[in-house]
Amino acid sequence: MKTVLIAEDNAVNRELLRELLEIRGYDVIETCNGEEALQRIAEAQPDILLVDLGMPVLDGFGTIQQIRDNPTFHSLPVLAVTAYAMQGDREKILNAGFDGYLSKPINPVALDQELERLLNKNNPISALEDRAESTRSRS
Ligand SMILES: [Mg+2]
Repeated sequence: MKTVLIAEDNAVNRELLRELLEIRGYDVIETCNGEEALQRIAEAQPDILLVDLGMPVLDGFGTIQQIRDNPTFHSLPVLAVTAYAMQGDREKILNAGFDGYLSKPINPVALDQELERLLNKNNPISALEDRAESTRSRS
């Protein structure tokens, strides 16, 4: 079972996200800000992080910077969760080191697509497709 670590300061949003993830079969760990999330990573060993951009103590941009600078966690997949829907944000978010982002309110289809995209390295179906691909290219 995959584990998703959430960092989100709003209790209602956190609960909604937890429900969306749990019905999809993910284990969920909730934290309320970036500082708490960073403290939990080593022990929780999440497969992916979902990080709200606007949080007290340590916001999403501060959190992604510390993750990407950390030799142990730097390659962890991290999705930003953002209330902003302004032009140019996508670039700002990707330049900061996030692997992608989800806009609030979370669209379940977008959530599925992003989780699939970032977690499918360990997906047996995509592993089979990779093998088929390498067989074809060899012949
Ligand atoms: Mg927030």
